[in-house]
Amino acid sequence: MKNTIFTLIILGSIIITTGCDSLVLKTVMGTVDPYFHGPGVDGTKFDKVGNNVYTYKWNWYRNLIIDTDDGLVIIDPMNPKMSAALKIELNTRFPGKKVHTLIYSHYHLDHTSGGSELSPINIVSHEKSPWYWNNVEHPNLVKPTEFISGDTVLNIGDVEIRALYLGLSHTDTLYAFHIPSERLVFTADVGLVKTVPPIGIPDRYAPGYLAAMDRIIEIDFDTFVPSHFGFGKKSDLIDWRNMIEDARKLSLSAIKKHGSPGVGHDQMGKYFDEVYYPMREKYSTWHGFSDMFVLNLVRDIVGESLGY
Ligand SMILES: [Zn+2]
Repeated sequence: MKNTIFTLIILGSIIITTGCDSLVLKTVMGTVDPYFHGPGVDGTKFDKVGNNVYTYKWNWYRNLIIDTDDGLVIIDPMNPKMSAALKIELNTRFPGKKVHTLIYSHYHLDHTSGGSELSPINIVSHEKSPWYWNNVEHPNLVKPTEFISGDTVLNIGDVEIRALYLGLSHTDTLYAFHIPSERLVFTADVGLVKTVPPIGIPDRYAPGYLAAMDRIIEIDFDTFVPSHFGFGKKSDLIDWRNMIEDARKLSLSAIKKHGSPGVGHDQMGKYFDEVYYPMREKYSTWHGFSDMFVLNLVRDIVGESLGY
């Protein structure tokens, strides 16, 4: 409670000195910006993560490159700037080698834009993705040449890529990718390495999301490459799954104690006290813990109250 009161005093003094509009902007930007930008986050890097597998980091985004006898396979172009920067890197590292297949992990536009920069021969996505794209503007999206549904094994060149369909989890178009020969798993928006999720994990159906993580954890693999921030080991995904479940359980018990949002008074402060201190005890050293705490708490409280 001490921290809550302290925060309110600070907020009050900012309101007096800056006015309300600028307070909202300053508070939101001050909270969110350090999560997405800063030393160790900004910049690009190309890393080898297996015998024939590489990962490219562009600011807080990260994708996967697989070198096969038939050409390169890339999972997620993300956006035109990232794809253009990656293409320059690929031309230097794999001169003359074409992008045989570009795979879209799920339909979200921040993962599926800018593919034309890579000049792929084939583009693969879940069959339901166009249904979503048709309802929004998507100027930088290149349409797939091949659609898949359910678990699908892609044999490209000499490499087996197992596309694991994750059901309704983070959209219902989501795949994780397991490359058995490399003992590696790539996930899109499922799992991070010692980093809390951004903005409550948008478009998440929490029960399906937990099931998806459990399914991936059952796989026998070593290297874990998520689509944002750093890469690591399978144990990082297990830690992340447990952090998500800790937050959900604490939120649920806070709701049981203080009621669903809107049925009592000063509930946000009470939810905060129930969830913040136990989470801080375990996860305060993770990237973005303070920056994202309130946004993640709101998502968990609302989700647990409504059942999603
Ligand atoms: Zn997404």
